[in-house]
Amino acid sequence: QKYQSVALIIGVTGIVGNSLAEILPLSDTPGGPWKVYGVARRPRPSWNADHPIEYIQCDISNPEDTQSKLTLLADVTHVFYVTWASRYTEIENCETNGEMFKNVLNAIIPNCPNLSHICLQTGRKHYHGPFELFGEVGHDTPHHEGLPRLSVPNFYYTLEDILFEEVKKKEKLTWSVHRPGLIFGFSPYSLMNIIASLCVYAAICKHEGLKLKFPGVKSAWDGYSDCSDADLVAEHQIWASVDPNAKNEAFDVSNGDVFKWKHLWGILAEEFEVEAEEFDEKKKRWRLEEMMKDKGEIWDEIVKENGLVPNKLEQVGGWWFVDIVLSGECPLDTMNKSKEYGFLGFRNSKKAFISWIDKVKAYKIVP
Ligand code: NAD
Repeated sequence: QKYQSVALIIGVTGIVGNSLAEILPLSDTPGGPWKVYGVARRPRPSWNADHPIEYIQCDISNPEDTQSKLTLLADVTHVFYVTWASRYTEIENCETNGEMFKNVLNAIIPNCPNLSHICLQTGRKHYHGPFELFGEVGHDTPHHEGLPRLSVPNFYYTLEDILFEEVKKKEKLTWSVHRPGLIFGFSPYSLMNIIASLCVYAAICKHEGLKLKFPGVKSAWDGYSDCSDADLVAEHQIWASVDPNAKNEAFDVSNGDVFKWKHLWGILAEEFEVEAEEFDEKKKRWRLEEMMKDKGEIWDEIVKENGLVPNKLEQVGGWWFVDIVLSGECPLDTMNKSKEYGFLGFRNSKKAFISWIDKVKAYKIVP
């Protein structure tokens, strides 16, 4: 088969990587037909195995492994960088993630004569600062691409700066930066997957006969929130890859609507046949991370009883992440720039919430 474009997805088992691996090979995807390489650290999981891509197991934090495996791919035309590693402090995040990104670019840029575009996925922390400073620094909302950087360390700034330097090394090589908010998607390997985490929490409530309590604060319960559908983020990156209008620009990417968690809570309860508990602001804030400390064995039982894909609790549940997301008002962004530049995609967040839950169930990650 003759391909028009050749994609390299770095983080192919991640929450957006898995969507890219599903969408890029489709016959009607812009820029296609696409040949697709997908890189991830671990062996290929069953739920990723049906995508018609070439899977490459490679640890991009290891420069030798990256050089030996990625310099073999001389036909790459587009890079989709959708990965990160979590470290204790943001300074460490900057170092580790910077090294990973450089390792990939050092292997690809000099070796791929037809390389034309690099998509870098960062996120909304660009505007409100790293997790460790949550609520302490940050711009007024709605966030937009015209806002200046905050004067605190942020690994997104490190990644952007590396990108801007590296693209200079090759004539006509273009870039785009994509800044999603909270992502709704599918990946049992994601470090931050609110859908899978909430599904696992609800399944444990069902198993133990507990009510589904909201693990957050009032402003998260009944304030406006928004999210970024993983398929939409993938479409946004593919758009920027092929549309000349979108070159060398950073874009926010979110669904284009708002929702309230209190309205999604009943849906989650219904999906898992548990009773939703009404939020009571007089009750003390509690955290999923605390609750889940001793639930590992119960989860193993649920997996066994229901014939689920074997996964440890700490693998499928990002409790710290859900606790942070639901700890305050959601900082909203705007899709104005994307629309002005020609991206008109959107998602209905409520429908997306249901369809991602159904996918987590269909792939037997939860009962
Ligand atoms: P993810 O955690 O879902 O997936 C990461 C992928 O990279 C996985 O395939 C993992 O196996 C792979 N990977 C990790 N370390 C690797 C290594 N050393 N070598 C090779 N592969 C490796 O990623 P994500 O959540 O899509 O994150 C990408 C970016 O998006 C990050 O900057 C993140 O902060 C940002 N973001 C994420 C969310 C969210 O809700 N998940 C929201 C906004 C922004």
